[in-house]
Amino acid sequence: MHRYLIALGSNVRHPRHGAPREVLRAAARALDSAGMDLEVLSPIIASAPLGPSRRRYANACALVSSPLAPAALLSRLQSIEHTFGRVRRGSPWRARTLDLDIVLWSGGALADIEANLVIPHPAYRTRPFVLGPATTIAPDWRDPLTGLATKHLASRLTRRRPTPR
Ligand code: ATP
Ligand code: CA
Ligand code: CA
Repeated sequence: MHRYLIALGSNVRHPRHGAPREVLRAAARALDSAGMDLEVLSPIIASAPLGPSRRRYANACALVSSPLAPAALLSRLQSIEHTFGRVRRGSPWRARTLDLDIVLWSGGALADIEANLVIPHPAYRTRPFVLGPATTIAPDWRDPLTGLATKHLASRLTRRRPTPR
């Protein structure tokens, strides 16, 4: 059995589920089906838009246990994104109903070129909208590359820089 830390994001209403935070609640239910066990969902936060998009995001993290290997789990996540009607049209800054990323897994560091999959997620160390929710459910989970726990990565982001003399 493996454990995964999954980051969830949405910045578009869904015709049936409603506002982005409701989309994430529904997505969390989908993470608890067919070969995946949802252990815990973090609080859902609202974060500022990324890039030129003006839509606010809802973000959360989930701990999932599964017998699925990373590449198979990624395919499952992508088919869940698909059922929520995510449209891929080139620009990553477009409106998106649902984004599911693998942040960490119990197997350590992994680069699967064929599956186009890198774990830990290459950007998570600098993303407050991932580290904030992640700290609430997996504060002590260490990044296999830097050795820093989630809570340390998070506090590194929020700590104020020393004033230059
Ligand atoms: P970002 O990865 O910076 O958050 P994004 O989530 O907007 O950007 P997507 O368009 O959702 O990017 O995904 C692009 C590709 O990233 C996917 O096709 C997937 O194969 C790849 N990928 C690599 N590593 C991961 C990972 N750890 N979790 C999810 N997708 C990954
Ligand atoms: Ca993402
Ligand atoms: Ca993604």
